[in-house]
Amino acid sequence: MENGITGHTRLVGLFATPIRHSVSPMIQNTAFQELGIDAVYLAFDLGVDRLPQAIESIKNLEMLGANLSMPNKMAAVPLMDELSTAAKLVGAINTIVNQNGKLIGHITDGTGFMRSLQDIEIDIIHQKITIIGAGGAATAIIVQAALDGVKEIAVYNRKDEFYTKVQEKLAYVEENTDCKISLHDLADKEGLEKDVAQSVLLVNATGVGMQPNTQASPIEDFSIIREDLAVYDVIYNPRETRLLKEAKIRGAKTANGLGMLLYQGAAAFELWTGQEMPIEKIKPIIENN
Ligand code: NAD
Repeated sequence: MENGITGHTRLVGLFATPIRHSVSPMIQNTAFQELGIDAVYLAFDLGVDRLPQAIESIKNLEMLGANLSMPNKMAAVPLMDELSTAAKLVGAINTIVNQNGKLIGHITDGTGFMRSLQDIEIDIIHQKITIIGAGGAATAIIVQAALDGVKEIAVYNRKDEFYTKVQEKLAYVEENTDCKISLHDLADKEGLEKDVAQSVLLVNATGVGMQPNTQASPIEDFSIIREDLAVYDVIYNPRETRLLKEAKIRGAKTANGLGMLLYQGAAAFELWTGQEMPIEKIKPIIENN
């Protein structure tokens, strides 16, 4: 690789642990290079114990900003000077922008998801969607969909110890957007069937079906999938989960989580640089990872 680092080069950090497997440095540095932006993106393996110092460094070292992944996404929230609307509603951030010494926290997972729908030509604005899962990925999707004008979201989650907390969170999002949001037990098969029948999109936002449990699926009755329903799985490993295979058999449009991964990175890049990520150059990196 050509060494273009100079005395002017600015730094963007990725703060998470574990992080050495991440494809983000490759994505962001390729995008900087392609556009001739004098910046580098480096991964720092650190958790919540060293997060306050790392975030302070963004100001001290005049960094452009940072990305955050597990376990730092929620812990970073109180360390920000300001939060985007979506970040406030989600209660987590994955991107920090250093705006002349002021740190602004954003969450780009949801915008990444929404943008990826364009690739499969699905329009969910003013429509109803059903989401399985209510964890980090699901919340980011729900919040952005609600902010962007989705009319109604039916959320199905297993009745675990977080169920009450999820209920409170979704009520808060509903209060602060124009979207009707309801939470249901994933065990309620009849309810799920009814909601999916009224939806244009079904999203799996759980890890069910991920490697190595590729035979698992968040739903067992695939007959609820129809030709004019789109099915999205946030999982990208494997590229085609059992849910997506079954959806394809039934003629539904499908998408895996690679698009969300790509566009959340693109949204962060655009926040730091004000420039559009060269998506076509970046897609092969993500697809071959
Ligand atoms: P999380 O732990 O915050 O949430 C997990 C969710 O799955 C919860 O709602 C939980 O109740 C549900 N769940 C877990 N096991 C289940 C089971 N056996 N049956 C039913 N529900 C179950 O995790 P997260 O960060 O939201 O990640 C969820 C998935 O999304 C993971 O596969 C992750 O890799 C993927 N993800 C993808 C992207 C992307 O860019 N494509 C981004 C973030 C996360």
